[in-house]
Amino acid sequence: MADYIPELARANPDHFGIVLATADGRIYAVGDTDVPFTIQSISKPFSYGLALKLLGREQVQRKVGVEPSGEAFNAISLDPQTGIPRNPMINAGAIATTAQISHAIGADAERLLLEFFSDLANRPLSIDQAVYRSECESGHRNRAISHLLRNAQVIETDPEQGLDLYFRQCAISITCRDLAVMAATLACQGSNPLSGDHILEPEIVTRMLALMGTCGMYDYAGHWLYDVGMPAKSGVAGGVLAVVPGRLGIATYSPRLDAYGNSSRGIAVCEEISQRLGLHLYNQNPGLTTPIRRSSNATFQQSRRLRNTQEESQLAEQGGQVRILHAQGVIDFADCELLLAEIQRLSNKARVLLLDLVQVTEVQPLCWPLLATQFELLRQRGIPLVLSRCQHLPLDPALTPYPRYSSFDEALEAAENLLLGGALHSNPEAGDQPSWTHVLKDVDPELIEPMMRLRRLEPGEAVIERGQAGDSLFIAQSGLYSTTVDLQELDGQFRATRMATFAPGMCFGEIAFISGLPRSADVICTTGGFCWELLREDFDQLRLHHPQAAIQLLLALANDLGAKLGRTNVQLSLMEQL
Ligand code: GLN
Repeated sequence: MADYIPELARANPDHFGIVLATADGRIYAVGDTDVPFTIQSISKPFSYGLALKLLGREQVQRKVGVEPSGEAFNAISLDPQTGIPRNPMINAGAIATTAQISHAIGADAERLLLEFFSDLANRPLSIDQAVYRSECESGHRNRAISHLLRNAQVIETDPEQGLDLYFRQCAISITCRDLAVMAATLACQGSNPLSGDHILEPEIVTRMLALMGTCGMYDYAGHWLYDVGMPAKSGVAGGVLAVVPGRLGIATYSPRLDAYGNSSRGIAVCEEISQRLGLHLYNQNPGLTTPIRRSSNATFQQSRRLRNTQEESQLAEQGGQVRILHAQGVIDFADCELLLAEIQRLSNKARVLLLDLVQVTEVQPLCWPLLATQFELLRQRGIPLVLSRCQHLPLDPALTPYPRYSSFDEALEAAENLLLGGALHSNPEAGDQPSWTHVLKDVDPELIEPMMRLRRLEPGEAVIERGQAGDSLFIAQSGLYSTTVDLQELDGQFRATRMATFAPGMCFGEIAFISGLPRSADVICTTGGFCWELLREDFDQLRLHHPQAAIQLLLALANDLGAKLGRTNVQLSLMEQL
């Protein structure tokens, strides 16, 4: 164990703890993971990060370099070329860094530093006064380094002041668990996965990790990167902190050190974890994620806007030209490139593109311009784009001109409309004939005509209300009629969901009319228009006096229902394949 700081020699050499903290905040701990010890050199990358945050890169780099040194951590030397310490992971560089913080912040520096470390660990931390005093009294070598820095003008004020803050920083008392949380914060680009607090900018964390990668394990750094392949930092009290960027933080505690001053068991544990879990930075699987959850077209997925026979056959024939992409995950450059390639590939066959983003949790800012460029190319080629369910994403202004829908069904309807008629919205005109002549074509018109009443509806007016007696049936003459029910979605919330939209010529309200049960849902005329109504009492008269015609009417309704059910069955079966 380290004994050049006398107080450190008092630790229990058999203590041994391992903690893994994942990027989404789960913690796996075994052994002595709550035993306090001092952070020592593991504080170095963090105080460097704090200096970058407070003072900026330019000012910090004027006083400390970023090259590996190849010398012992406590070497009393400066880079002969630049006259400053080679990097912030050796003592000279760390003291220069902390002195800058001390100089810039003054009396408040210790409090600020402690708060910063506490935020990283998600727990209020304190300084082990005994270890601090012990190093203060015995740290002649660091004192020499500090004065050397003063002499070289790296430190421009009292060399004792910065040194004192450095000793305090090294004496911050932490546990193995704390260290793992700090490591996970680095794995999460500076956001603490437990508190969710954003503590450091990703650019700063990137630099901290880079220096840990090249200089974190002292003269063992090359070997470490070769075998373990993770940015890491060790401390003489026996801690090791390692980071798998984007995935997890690892911490070990075991006070016995090897010849380089790294925890012997800590090194062995990290080596084994890296190998057994395949975590080496340079051993990345190229096909881990796909941004495309599903790729389909409008013959497989159809909106709940019911179509007339002509539109239906056109969709069956050309639906393949409405290409539907359901994207997913966090879209970074690699995912974005895959997405763009897929859009490019599809665009040769597509006439309309629908991009559904509900399963996308984040689009990294650098991807927006790439997407915008691709969409602009589509636009130039006359391929319209419809966006679906992107309300949770901070959409880039370049994408706001494209039509967006908060429901997938509506987006799909718009895409179908674009294919069918070239416009997003279609409000079909009434034909010259009364529309019932189509549905009820086999029923004697002489008998039917006197029974059909034309009703006029304002936009938004309800034709049918839930719970009413089902004592009439309707056939749309003009306008659109939608029926919705409140469905519980995956998030537990109930939302009005469209079951169907009926267009001119289509029959609705027939289910309750036939069954005699109360209405199960509202039907609203969304556009305003006219529809035909047939009352049960008239139908009953027909049954009485013209049973043959009544049978014909029921057969016509059965046919219509059968066709609707057939369509629904096909859609359901196709959806199972998706
Ligand atoms: N406080 C110790 C020193 O400066 C830290 C060294 C270390 O952990 N490697 O010597």
